[in-house]
Amino acid sequence: MEPDAVLFDLDDTLCRYRRSGASLLVTAFESTGLDPFVSSEEYYGRYPEFIDGSDSMVDLRERCFATIAAEKGYDPEDGRRIARAYADERDHRNVERVPGVDRVLSALSEVPVGVVTNGAPGMQAQKLDALGLADAFDVVVHAGYDAPAKPSPEPFDAALSAMSARAERSYHVGNSLRTDVAGANAAGLRSVWVPEGPGDRSPDPKPAHVLPELDRMPDVLSLE
Ligand SMILES: [Mg+2]
Repeated sequence: MEPDAVLFDLDDTLCRYRRSGASLLVTAFESTGLDPFVSSEEYYGRYPEFIDGSDSMVDLRERCFATIAAEKGYDPEDGRRIARAYADERDHRNVERVPGVDRVLSALSEVPVGVVTNGAPGMQAQKLDALGLADAFDVVVHAGYDAPAKPSPEPFDAALSAMSARAERSYHVGNSLRTDVAGANAAGLRSVWVPEGPGDRSPDPKPAHVLPELDRMPDVLSLE
């Protein structure tokens, strides 16, 4: 079946930062001179607690680091300083394409394609430009800015409506069960989950398709 449209998440689906969060955190502690009171594993483990009620990644990270600082007997302001130093170090142009992006986009050359990302327009535009993908998509919806954040169905509805595509004949491809699969399912699209690593064998929520690698997406489309 020729789909009406194929939507993609951006971060960790189409692209990755070349520099790890662990490396940024080390530099943030060095530049502020503060004790390294939190590891990147701990930060990544805790940050989902702060997604609700944060209006941006910067705000989320400040709240997360401030909370961890306070729990460990440091001044919460030290946490906020680390969050700001981390943000200052992050270069949104220092990104690379996930393997398979070129194959997928060329296989979809006749199909409308879009991006539905939970990310600020200025930040995501820098990434798309650095990746050479600034003109590769028919629509880019910045969920959390142009519409409510994923997993709300609204940003998916907005992308489909801009492309005059029907949800039941469209796909959304993403790495997150919580935002991409849940949101695409809620909007009535066919969700395609590309897990990082081996992934959960019985994922919840359940995606319509699980792809071990992004470059298998053309196989999914020819199945139906
Ligand atoms: Mg992602």
